[in-house]
Amino acid sequence: MFEQVKLGYAFDALEPHIDTATVETHYGKHHAAYTKAFNEAAQKAGLQDVPAEEILSSLDGVQDPALRRALRNNGGGYLNHNLYFSTLSPNPQKDPDGKLGEAVARDFGGTPSLKARLKEAALGQFGSGWAWLCTDREGKLSVSQSGNQDNPYSEGTGLVPILALDVWEHAYYLRYRNLRADYIDGFFEVLDWKAVGENYARAVKS
Ligand code: MN
Repeated sequence: MFEQVKLGYAFDALEPHIDTATVETHYGKHHAAYTKAFNEAAQKAGLQDVPAEEILSSLDGVQDPALRRALRNNGGGYLNHNLYFSTLSPNPQKDPDGKLGEAVARDFGGTPSLKARLKEAALGQFGSGWAWLCTDREGKLSVSQSGNQDNPYSEGTGLVPILALDVWEHAYYLRYRNLRADYIDGFFEVLDWKAVGENYARAVKS
């Protein structure tokens, strides 16, 4: 049974950067619906006991196109939002440190440059989708973007996403209307680099 990540904060805790109604709807409706539909599809495919990352990395093995599409869209919606919500905090660590801090300096020249790259990717995503900070198993970082609920697993990149920036309109339209750039700035205000660093440590082989 795939379950939504438990929020470590109240719905109103990310104000004013991410508003209460958006967190309520985004987590309580959108993410909940993806999770329910993913559980149903995984059950139908006999994959209910397989990790979500693995299901999304091997969609080619699912013969029925409708079922494959359901797993891709809802599995992505499930996993992407778990990553998104688990890296937000009302008391975020403002900069990466430790191993991740070193890698950000090495691969991007510092946090401001990395944020600029993420913002560029997020603004450049036409329509609904995501911007990503990923790592390979050796710890090399890269920024990318994808449409719909696709992610580095379903796209077969072999990379591990450690930061997910949701740019579907449901993530920002209630508070920011059409101003995606302002939402991205708000996202960075509540992005917890400690959580991103923990994802990095888990993803990189020691
Ligand atoms: Mn979303």
